[in-house]
Amino acid sequence: MPAEPEPPRAASPGVSPEGRPSLQPGGASRAPAGWRLQPTGVLLFLFIPLVLYLFVRHPEPVAASLGAGIVLMAGHRFLARPYMARAIPHKCLWCNRLLVPAPVPALDAANSTLDLVIDGELTAARCCAAHQAPAARFFRFLSMARLPLRLGIFAPLLLLLAALAAAAAGHPQALPAATALFQLLVGLTVSAAAWGTLLVRSPAEQVPLPVPFPAHNFFLLGVRSLLWIFRLVGAWWIYRGLSFFFG
Ligand SMILES: [Zn+2]
Repeated sequence: MPAEPEPPRAASPGVSPEGRPSLQPGGASRAPAGWRLQPTGVLLFLFIPLVLYLFVRHPEPVAASLGAGIVLMAGHRFLARPYMARAIPHKCLWCNRLLVPAPVPALDAANSTLDLVIDGELTAARCCAAHQAPAARFFRFLSMARLPLRLGIFAPLLLLLAALAAAAAGHPQALPAATALFQLLVGLTVSAAAWGTLLVRSPAEQVPLPVPFPAHNFFLLGVRSLLWIFRLVGAWWIYRGLSFFFG
């Protein structure tokens, strides 16, 4: 395949990035960045279903499933956060498409950015011009509903971890109900996040939007795919949870 000449990145002295996403000086990583970013994002996303499998299906021995799940969950951020830093200048936050390298987009009406506050730091996430509005709507809803959404994830997670620890210590009685409750409540919460975003308006002007959850998870597959996973898995988990208690 013939290598396409890349647009000269430093050739526009008039274009100032001004805190916009920028590439490393020298651009040493620009050629591999494109094709590596997508499979790496998928691979890093797969940590999440793997951890959920270990917690929800908890194959024997339960202690090993619990331990491996906690190690993977804790270790994920150390891989996913550097990935997020690499992905922000290259991918659309919403649809995950690879974008033309900066600073060309500064002159290109087809590209836009969304100002997010990630760990207290203002970050301009890139997106297609058409995808700025749905992304803004999602992060607006996320920050409006952050308390119930956090509660809906972390309370059932803590309960399930406690039940797994008890099962590992020889008291498995509460584990089936804790697992079903986890699936039901997390299913309801991610469904609320994914469908609720359709109910809010996009902010009228660009105001920095806080990200109340670990931000790196939104950059692995893009928000649009993540929300469809939430809708499908959410519905399945609500069904599983309800059939345990009422089936
Ligand atoms: Zn897009």
